[in-house]
Amino acid sequence: MVDNFPSSRRCLYCGARSQTPGLCEGCAASLPWITQACPGCAQPQNFDGPCSSCLKKPLPFDTAWAAFQLDPPVHQAIHDLKYHAGFLQANFLGQLLAQKLGRRAQPLPELIIPVPLHRTRLIRRGYNQALELARILQNTLDVRVDPGIAKRIRNTPDQIGQSRAQRQRNLRGAFTVDKRVAGKHIALLDDVMTTGATLAELARAARRAGATRIEAWAVARVP
Ligand SMILES: [Zn+2]
Ligand SMILES: [Zn+2]
Repeated sequence: MVDNFPSSRRCLYCGARSQTPGLCEGCAASLPWITQACPGCAQPQNFDGPCSSCLKKPLPFDTAWAAFQLDPPVHQAIHDLKYHAGFLQANFLGQLLAQKLGRRAQPLPELIIPVPLHRTRLIRRGYNQALELARILQNTLDVRVDPGIAKRIRNTPDQIGQSRAQRQRNLRGAFTVDKRVAGKHIALLDDVMTTGATLAELARAARRAGATRIEAWAVARVP
C-alpha cells in the first residue's frame, strides 16, 4: 500500500500520524512535565519550599525553573536539537515552554540570555541550541533575547559524570556578561540543567554586571 501521508505530518517520536508538526497528540499528552519542584534549583520534589541542598548552599540565582524531567520523548527531542540540528524540535519545545511561562503569576523577565557556547564549539556545531530555543520564546512571549550580551571566554571540557563541585571548578571565570544587564530582571536559558553549575557560573557573571533579578530556565532537569 502506498502511504501518501507526508513525513512532516508524522510524529518524530512514535511515527504516528500527527496533525501538528513534531509531536503527535499521544506523545504530547504523555510529556514528562515537572509539576512541583524546588524553587531554588528546579529539582522535582513533592513539597513546597527549598530542597535540603538549597537550604545548605543556595545557587546564585533568585529562582530556577525547568519544564520537564529528562525523560522520553523530551530526552530524544533535546538530543536531536543539540546534535542533529533539530530545529523542528527547538520549535515545539520552545512553544511548550512559552505556553507554561506565559501562564505563570510572576512577571516575565525583561531579557532572556541563552547560555553561550564557546566560539570553537559554536563553529563546530554551527548553531547554539539555547539560542534557538530563546528565539522561539522571544517570538511567543515578546521578551527580548540578546545573544551578544554574554560570552563564553573559556572552553570547558564535557561535564558528563562530574560532581557539582568539579563542574564549578572547571567553569570558574568561563563567562563574561555585558553591563547592559545592570538593573534588569533577566532569565538565563539552557537546554538541560544537570547540577546547575553552568547556569550558576553564568548567573555569577550576570550578578557582577549588575543584574538585579536572575532566573535560571531549562527545558529539562536531570533528577
Ligand atoms: Zn507520537
Ligand atoms: Zn533546590
